[in-house]
Amino acid sequence: MTRFLNDKLKDLVPYTPGEQPRNMSKLIKLNTNESPYPPAPGVIKALDGGEAASLRLYSDPECKTLVRAIAEYHGVRDGQIFPGNGSDEVLAFVFHGMCQNGAVFADITYGFYQVFSAMFNVDGGVIPLREDFSIAVEDYVNHKGTVFIANPNAPTGICLPPGDIRGLLEQDRDRLVVVDEAYVAFGGESAQPLLTEFDNLLIVRTFSKSHSLAGARLGYAIGSEELISDLNTLKFSFNPYNVNRLSMIAGAEAMKDTAYFEECRGRIIEAREYAAEQLRNFGFTVLDSKANFIFAGANAKISGMKYFKRLRENGILVRHFDLPRISDYVRITIGTMEQMQRLVEVTKGVV
Ligand SMILES: *Cc1c(COP(=O)(O)O)cnc(C)c1O
Repeated sequence: MTRFLNDKLKDLVPYTPGEQPRNMSKLIKLNTNESPYPPAPGVIKALDGGEAASLRLYSDPECKTLVRAIAEYHGVRDGQIFPGNGSDEVLAFVFHGMCQNGAVFADITYGFYQVFSAMFNVDGGVIPLREDFSIAVEDYVNHKGTVFIANPNAPTGICLPPGDIRGLLEQDRDRLVVVDEAYVAFGGESAQPLLTEFDNLLIVRTFSKSHSLAGARLGYAIGSEELISDLNTLKFSFNPYNVNRLSMIAGAEAMKDTAYFEECRGRIIEAREYAAEQLRNFGFTVLDSKANFIFAGANAKISGMKYFKRLRENGILVRHFDLPRISDYVRITIGTMEQMQRLVEVTKGVV
């Protein structure tokens, strides 16, 4: 560390992304919740259509075409959509600009909430999940900080019942509640219907998982036009061209192809239920996931770390978090049915 780094950031512990191995040919990659399927055919076709030549020009800072496609998909006004360079960037804007009274989130949830709190000097309040990893919304009642809820939660995959989001919003209408719906496509229920009733709700979505576009870096927020306008003020004070030309086109095309989206998510849900059932048969504790991953604990048979290592030796890459409460679990991204069958086969050998 040099003497040039701001004192306030000296203790910053950065987010640890899952490994992106360079030689993928022999590995089954189930560690970062990417889709096993390629982007929609229309995405690939559109990207081959000569847009590369226009990369000499800046991208549209208002992202008009993309915003239109997203707004149409959700049936909201264009002014209610705020696109970002991945939903991580959208979240960063909220932490930076909308957490005057701090931020509150679960002890076991998306790791970036903690990192952003430190990065932007926000008081981060950690609220433990219940013993069964569910969120106890009554524990949030006296907290003034902006609430961040991943729903379904990561890395547990557990959903919060719809009434509980309403409960959080009603607790304090002057407190912003951010619902991170990165995985909602895989069986969760969106908070979107609550937008008409609550102006303290901001929903964050991503193209990374459900639309096979992790590498495009594209996410967005849905909220009241006033909230979205504030986010734009933050963005235009930081990076007006936050979404690049190619991702803009990819995102708009991906939104239009709802049939392909339905097909992919259907297959992933089917493979998830298969894998969960098989692992349970081996004696694993598998939490009830509504995401494109499962969180599996091998109980006393084998430690989480050891299971992770044995899978790795057999060419399957999953994610293990060496953290309190969850070190006995591994998070397994749902791939194709064939990949899940291979996982089951290898697991059988391991246990
Ligand atoms: C993957 C993930 C994100 C980040 O998605 P990007 O759009 O790729 O930045 C945000 N929130 C949760 C809960 C995630 O799992």
